[in-house]
Amino acid sequence: MTIQLKEELKALDQKHFLHPTTSIEQQQAQGPAAIFTEGKGIYLKDMEGNTYIDGMSSLWNVNVGHGREEIAEVAKEQMATLAFSSCFATFSNEPAIRLASKIASLAPGDLTTVFFTSGGSESNDTAIKLARHYWLLKGQPERQKIISRTQSYHGVAMGATNATGLQAFRDFTNSHAPDFHYVYNQSVRHLRETIEALGPETVAAFISEPVQGAGGVNIPQKDYFKEVRKICDEYGILFIADEVITGFGRTGKLFGMEHYGVVPDMMSFAKGVSSGYAQLGGVVISEKIHQDYCELSKGTLMHGYTYSGHALACQVGLKNIEILEREKLVENAAHMGEAMLEGFKALQEKYSFIGRVRTIGLLGAIELVKSRETGELFQSYLSPIFVQETMKRGLILRTVTYDQDTVVFSPPLILSKAELDEMLRILDETFEYVR
Ligand code: PLP
Repeated sequence: MTIQLKEELKALDQKHFLHPTTSIEQQQAQGPAAIFTEGKGIYLKDMEGNTYIDGMSSLWNVNVGHGREEIAEVAKEQMATLAFSSCFATFSNEPAIRLASKIASLAPGDLTTVFFTSGGSESNDTAIKLARHYWLLKGQPERQKIISRTQSYHGVAMGATNATGLQAFRDFTNSHAPDFHYVYNQSVRHLRETIEALGPETVAAFISEPVQGAGGVNIPQKDYFKEVRKICDEYGILFIADEVITGFGRTGKLFGMEHYGVVPDMMSFAKGVSSGYAQLGGVVISEKIHQDYCELSKGTLMHGYTYSGHALACQVGLKNIEILEREKLVENAAHMGEAMLEGFKALQEKYSFIGRVRTIGLLGAIELVKSRETGELFQSYLSPIFVQETMKRGLILRTVTYDQDTVVFSPPLILSKAELDEMLRILDETFEYVR
């Protein structure tokens, strides 16, 4: 690749491409940090020929790793046969039917019926709308309020934005819809108090990630969701699990809620269902809700995306799940996750500015602190500089700096011990450099 081509692409990018969740100032000053051209396994390659470990599975989603020929093959075949046909008005296609029943067979408890979307934000909007519609059908139209947790991230569609506890996402469009409320992360008491204050008969649903991703990989205490489930049942509130990151193996179990032994009423998924090979997501609803819909619904379900049940995306999803199962990647995530934690702990012993470390499967976080005793942060956060330095050394990571200074990890579930060691070696080298 010539320098000329890179300069040309950089100029076009700066002028014509408004990037998602990106600092416009930074883009205009520097242009793209990398222009990727290839991916294979846990590695990405940019147009200058640099290789990087994709320590985030890109956006917590490329679970089976990059460059899977067999997914490309089924995609090509499906695209040539039937890329897309509508699923509105009872039309259907075989990949959508097969994937819905496959997901129903894998999902916990009585989660049996799937509504398809093209991603996580649409999934959470759908879950919120299905929950509200449910209460209309049940003759409780006042049940419209949604409760979520501080530091949660549920996406950027309007409902998902309002449900997101990370305030910067809501402030961006001054999205402060009155029906959305936020409870402290680990506090079951605050949840109860909030429900009581709002009036339980006005609350439609509580939504939560099993483990918060963008909020800093926050892993709830063992009994948190059991208590939440009890409270939701007591007040007749629907419990929505946002498994967009945690679904399909990321935490070392197929779904994150399995760690807590709790079955939600609805579960949204995306990312790992297709490992990013196609835009796909959805919501699984319980048999009970589905039955109530079947009995009470008279008219049309006035919610649906053009791409709900996209044949090509669903075929890709089926192949992706087949790989997850065949290669036992969920088990590998559990196993390698333990090794990753050990590696983090060894680094923690070596560097005094590493605060808390945590992992659950191949989802992890390292907090950076000025003082371990007080938890005091560096004045201007260290983690953004840190991840720039790991990238120079061939490892792509991400930071969380909302009210903490944290580096987060979400490598592909195919990670081998040798690849983990390489990741840890780069981390060690970078910590040594910034210390
Ligand atoms: N929910 C969670 C927990 C997420 O992490 C994300 C994206 O990172 C979303 C929802 C939104 O998904 P998408 O970006 O596919 O719309």
